[in-house]
Amino acid sequence: MFTNYKEDLVGVFGHPVAENPTCVMQNAAFEHLGLNWRYLTIEVTPAALAEAIRGLRAMGFRGVNLTIPHKVAVLPLLDAVADDARLIGAVNTVRREGDRLIGENTDGKGFLRSVREEAGVDPKGAHVVVLGAGGAARAIAVECALAGADRITIVNRNPERGAALADHLARNLKIAARFVLWQADFAAGKDTDLLVNATSIGLFPDGDAMPPVSMGALAQACLVCDVIPNPPDTRFVKTARAHGLKALTGLPMLVNQGAIGFKMWTDLDAPMAVMRMALAKAFRS
Ligand code: NDP
Repeated sequence: MFTNYKEDLVGVFGHPVAENPTCVMQNAAFEHLGLNWRYLTIEVTPAALAEAIRGLRAMGFRGVNLTIPHKVAVLPLLDAVADDARLIGAVNTVRREGDRLIGENTDGKGFLRSVREEAGVDPKGAHVVVLGAGGAARAIAVECALAGADRITIVNRNPERGAALADHLARNLKIAARFVLWQADFAAGKDTDLLVNATSIGLFPDGDAMPPVSMGALAQACLVCDVIPNPPDTRFVKTARAHGLKALTGLPMLVNQGAIGFKMWTDLDAPMAVMRMALAKAFRS
């Protein structure tokens, strides 16, 4: 009887990459669906990225995720880049179309899907306030603009980075966007519909760190979202709940962006509950 020992390969290229937890949820999903696929966590230095992408082509990888510091550097190494990923200026997922490698960005899409499906909120017509102007902030702001948000406020400590993102949104996505310099406590206004922490403040092992923001003026309908998946219940999320506000952790965003990548690679719907449980277990251990 023929036995197929060959696995279909996907993975992540990063540097450093050892603490990237994506393998946990993707391999759990493959196992659950009985797929002979394997997700590998691969250390790739910036100098080796081009060679690694050639290797990926040579070995017939079905796709790959890119994490720090490769999300921007990978763009010229691909055959095509999806429109939203180009607007974000970064690729976190590569999928194959025959021999062609296509760059995608699932971070903002994962955020949107969590907001819609977990929290039941439609960002269409919303005033979205984003804390931070890095890669996650950029992905979230661009996808919210594409989803029909009414206006976006970028709050950032570094004025050049913050102003550049607001300018990009206004110029290229034709949305009302403004930049607010983040000094001391930022007081989120009552006209905020979505308040998003897209900074790295609160990430393990600094789970108790809190972005300097006051939520006292927010309306009860405002949805407060964190991008930090580990620990899921950050101080930002706990503070929102203490104010009686609905809060969304970074865990569903992480699962959703992975599930969107899973579908791009396998053409199958991802077993999201299995992925989420595997990640939550890994974060507890
Ligand atoms: P970047 O390094 O690109 O950006 C970090 C942002 O955080 C910058 O805007 C930076 O401000 C801001 N920041 C960091 N420390 C402080 C501070 N002490 N005070 C004020 N601002 C601060 O990182 P990414 O955008 O790629 O990632 C951000 C976070 O998002 C990470 O923790 C990552 O784990 C998470 N993430 C979660 C995902 C999920 O699926 N849940 C997906 C992708 C990312 P400045 O510009 O002033 O330096």
